[in-house]
Amino acid sequence: MNPDVHERACRLIDAWHVEGIAAVEREWLEAHLAECAACRARARANERTLQVLRSNTLIVDPALVSTTQARVRWRARELRENQARLRALWISCGLSWLLGILTAPLLWEAFAWLGRRFDISQAIWIMAFAMCWVAPATLVGAVVAWRQSHAASVGNDPKAWER
Ligand SMILES: [Zn+2]
Repeated sequence: MNPDVHERACRLIDAWHVEGIAAVEREWLEAHLAECAACRARARANERTLQVLRSNTLIVDPALVSTTQARVRWRARELRENQARLRALWISCGLSWLLGILTAPLLWEAFAWLGRRFDISQAIWIMAFAMCWVAPATLVGAVVAWRQSHAASVGNDPKAWER
């Protein structure tokens, strides 16, 4: 068959559903489609595409859907865990401060007594007291820093959401 014939058919197929074609051209096209499988396939593909566009139906890959759902669930779980972690952090900070304030006078007395008992210079036992007093807060800070770096490394793991 003459390639110009198929080219004309293609042009008419494209125009058919968009701008419409004359009755004579339509008759000619239908006759051609009846005997040409390639142009018939093209016409069917055009029709399907237009149907999808008109119905506004998006065909989404099911794998993409489940991947997205898994990511959303993972992120929600991460946010819940972060919230719980933050609450625990505030509670431990509060307790640490309360304990520090309540024990400060006793600790001070104990260090002063040790200083007198073992004849240690005042500067040294005061420094030892200060180090002892800030130790819990330092420990909590270190734990928080470690957990954050741990969380960041899990967050950077591209496969973490699959777990
Ligand atoms: Zn053809």
